[in-house]
Amino acid sequence: MSQMKLHDQSDRSTQKSIPIDWSYAEAPENTSHATFLKSYGLFINGSFTNYDESQSFNSINPANGEVLYRCTEASEIDVDIAVKAARASFEGEWGNFSGTQRSHYLYRIARMLQERAREFAVLESMDGGKPIRESRDIDIPLAAAYFFYYAGWADKLPYAFPGKSSKPLGVCAQIIPWNFPLLMLAWKIAPALACGNTVVLKPAETTSLTALKFCELLQDIGLPNGVVNIVTGAGKTGEYLVQHPDIDKIAFTGSTGVGKLIQQSIAKRQISATFELGGKGAFILFDDAALNEAVEGIINAIFFNQGHVCCAGSRLLVQEGVAEKVIDLLKNRMQHLIIGDPLDKNTDIGAVNSKTQLETIQRYVATGIKEGASCYECSGSLPNSGYYFPPTLLTGVSQSSTVVQEEIFGPILTIQTFRTTDEAIEKANNTPYGLANGIWTDKGSKIFYVGSKLKSGVVWSNTYNKFDPTSPFGGYKESGKGREGGISGLHAYVKLVNNGGMN
Ligand code: NAD
Repeated sequence: MSQMKLHDQSDRSTQKSIPIDWSYAEAPENTSHATFLKSYGLFINGSFTNYDESQSFNSINPANGEVLYRCTEASEIDVDIAVKAARASFEGEWGNFSGTQRSHYLYRIARMLQERAREFAVLESMDGGKPIRESRDIDIPLAAAYFFYYAGWADKLPYAFPGKSSKPLGVCAQIIPWNFPLLMLAWKIAPALACGNTVVLKPAETTSLTALKFCELLQDIGLPNGVVNIVTGAGKTGEYLVQHPDIDKIAFTGSTGVGKLIQQSIAKRQISATFELGGKGAFILFDDAALNEAVEGIINAIFFNQGHVCCAGSRLLVQEGVAEKVIDLLKNRMQHLIIGDPLDKNTDIGAVNSKTQLETIQRYVATGIKEGASCYECSGSLPNSGYYFPPTLLTGVSQSSTVVQEEIFGPILTIQTFRTTDEAIEKANNTPYGLANGIWTDKGSKIFYVGSKLKSGVVWSNTYNKFDPTSPFGGYKESGKGREGGISGLHAYVKLVNNGGMN
């Protein structure tokens, strides 16, 4: 890596800034050579700005509640500088690159992510609390896969839009949540760059580390300045970005509540916007299914990433005749889950991402019990410090229960029964959300029938939480607007013009 370039600070019109301390903090010994800075500036126009103590915030390691590093809260002025850098790049060097040139950069990013996968996995787990097994085997390899996939499209765009010519939109404002930090970054940046746009991306305030580390990777591969800019901060920084008059596109992933606020705030502007929002997925288990396998599927559907998954199968709908057996199998399996240190490769359930999220989960479980639910939780001990919540089942709930209707975003599974296929479909569809559902059955015909009736962007059958760059992902109803992934993901980043025939 070019340390020269790292020290090359960009102009930033803030007072009292102090230079970043470039000595790296080290991850624990057993986690290879994952290093990170103790404090970070913003990444604007190819360089890190000075870290500014007066506008900084702590990022906490959720596994122990201690400060992991400090970040800069981007102000309105900072956001403006970042957007200007992205604009200059779009109208300059990057905007003039051919698809082939763009694809070279995207391939380099993908390859470098693969090379440094171990390091990124460790940092992701430290910052977000997810088990290292998941960061190592899923998040980071998938992030690289999305860059590979869209690198492949960058020089073949005419084939993605037959009969039409495509033009990039310009400067894209991208805002992401904390549950899959690097992966959500890849879902946003890879297609945007493939189509010729430039971006200003804001990571979530509790998980900025891999986005900042990613900036070092961009310096290493020599991505031209201003193509990717990263501004850290909380909701206010997000607002500055969304309200900036010189952005051409908003791509937001986060809660339905914030998604609605953004939609209201841009209602009077002609701006392209896509929204990936919350979910309340149903896992429909029929009595003809292989039950032991289905139980493994349920565990993965709800406890993967502590249940911090928009498409989590957080509602089990199980056919009446096998319900008792399935609940017994599930309880037994849950007792074998290992809860604890996210960096231990044997851990199944890591830390909840933040104290705030832990309190939200606790509040929801209390509400469930108050409304009549029975609660069963893993009996294993939890670590003494940090933010942890045991995998939990809530039975005795009804369709109108708060815990059945609202997204909890934690390791909480509600269980309801059904008698007929149509009752299962009715219950699965009866929430404000429409992101993902799963069907578990031995009968192919049932998969096609139920799948065609479920109102969700994704339907998995006899599996759950499987992601692939070639597949579109997105929601209906309050789960969002637009698709990411696959060819559909390209549509979100281009203007199409009819050209009367195939290119
Ligand atoms: P959140 O809505 O609180 O925050 C998401 C991002 O928006 C963060 O970066 C945050 O700082 C920013 N933000 C907050 N207020 C803002 C405002 N007023 N204007 C602009 N930006 C603002 O969500 P979260 O708690 O970080 O993430 C969890 C949510 O994300 C869940 O609801 C989950 O279902 C959803 N999610 C959806 C998908 C999907 O693909 N559909 C994927 C992952 C997560």
